[in-house]
Amino acid sequence: MRIVQKYGGSSVATLELIRGVAKRAIATKNEGHEVVVVLSAMKGETDRLLQLAMEAHPSPEPRELDSVLATGEQVSIGLFAISCQALGEKVKSFLGFQAGVKTDDQHGRARITDLDPARIRTELAKGRIVAVAGFQGINRHGDLTTLGRGGSDATAVALAIGLKADLCEIYTDVEGIYTTDPHICEKARKMERICYEEMLELASLGAKVMEIRSVELGMNYGVQIHVRHAHSQATGTLILKEDSEMEKTPVRGVTLSVNEARVTLLNVPDQPGVASRILSLVSKAGVVVDMIIQNRSFSDVPEGAKLTDFSFTVPLTDYPKTMELMEAAREEIGASRVVGDDTIAKVSIVGVGMRNHAGVAALMFQALAKENINLSMISTSEIKISCVIEKKYGELAVRALHEAFELDKLEG
Ligand code: ADP
Ligand code: ASP
Ligand code: MG
Repeated sequence: MRIVQKYGGSSVATLELIRGVAKRAIATKNEGHEVVVVLSAMKGETDRLLQLAMEAHPSPEPRELDSVLATGEQVSIGLFAISCQALGEKVKSFLGFQAGVKTDDQHGRARITDLDPARIRTELAKGRIVAVAGFQGINRHGDLTTLGRGGSDATAVALAIGLKADLCEIYTDVEGIYTTDPHICEKARKMERICYEEMLELASLGAKVMEIRSVELGMNYGVQIHVRHAHSQATGTLILKEDSEMEKTPVRGVTLSVNEARVTLLNVPDQPGVASRILSLVSKAGVVVDMIIQNRSFSDVPEGAKLTDFSFTVPLTDYPKTMELMEAAREEIGASRVVGDDTIAKVSIVGVGMRNHAGVAALMFQALAKENINLSMISTSEIKISCVIEKKYGELAVRALHEAFELDKLEG
């Protein structure tokens, strides 16, 4: 078989751990497989590099920032290859561009557009293990790009597709995909299987165990992904196509995101075109809006005036920029005030079974009310419900929902 194995930052945090990863890759090869290993930077390294760049300039130019960030993975693959050689194994390491990972031009959040893994194939044919730096690629100008946080997952899935691998294994610091973050809720339970749709929602709603684009790629190309612990032999979780078993349970996962903030424009004119004016300003600045709520304002409104409050959430990193933008446009939009809040969290429940179960939202709101947690925004889709709450109640809300939907008893 041809196997792509990806090891995350915590799995390569020290030289000792890298040696362990090398032994695991060699053992896989000795079972008669072709092995491609994708590595992340050593734990904490990408944060350290980011911090350094921000010290040099508070908003570094994205192209140059990518030059700095891409070094983390380079160290990992080099140390991995040397560790393999120390164990007498034939190996070759490649940076993203050497492995043929082509991306678009969006530095810091580039998308893989094409893959030319010719050199990887050649080395595999020579009986070598191939190590590839995750999280990076090259754009059409020949410049280095990075794929966004957690991007090594996408490198691994893309390579599995490009190399027509039989298996894509994502090795991490937990035993698989759990019903919620096991570091928040000790009753979290490992799932044996999860479908792409559910994993996509979990990833986009805050479960960082799999990066969202990697799940998207896996879904589009039908790559079966096995998420498992880097230093245990236990079977992990398979990400695959939905089946009827999965629909029997309404909710299979709970997530928490603390990386969003809310911006509210008070008393904007309640007339056509206002929402589009606000949101086009935001999108022109490259900011992606998540939840939107528009509410007729009943307070402080002069008789006869038709006014509304308009709120939306944005990623925390884009919050200062968005507030500045809205302050600058406030008068033109006709709002009386712009109010921001970066003390919010979003708690969500996910499950494909929600499509055919009634009363799921009611049970969610009841569980949160029981803990006296106030909901300030709600959004739903076919297979998820999200609520914005105060950040300080985030973890409590996760545990309350896990309990209410009895996820500790989930089968499979
Ligand atoms: P890696 O460094 O291997 O890429 P990450 O830190 O990106 O690992 O992702 C693993 C972490 O994801 C876990 O340590 C866990 O805290 C977190 N996590 C959040 N939600 C879940 C979930 N539903 N199941 C498993 N892990 C989760
Ligand atoms: N090193 C990068 C990060 O920390 C990419 C990854 O680990 O997947 O986000
Ligand atoms: Mg990760």
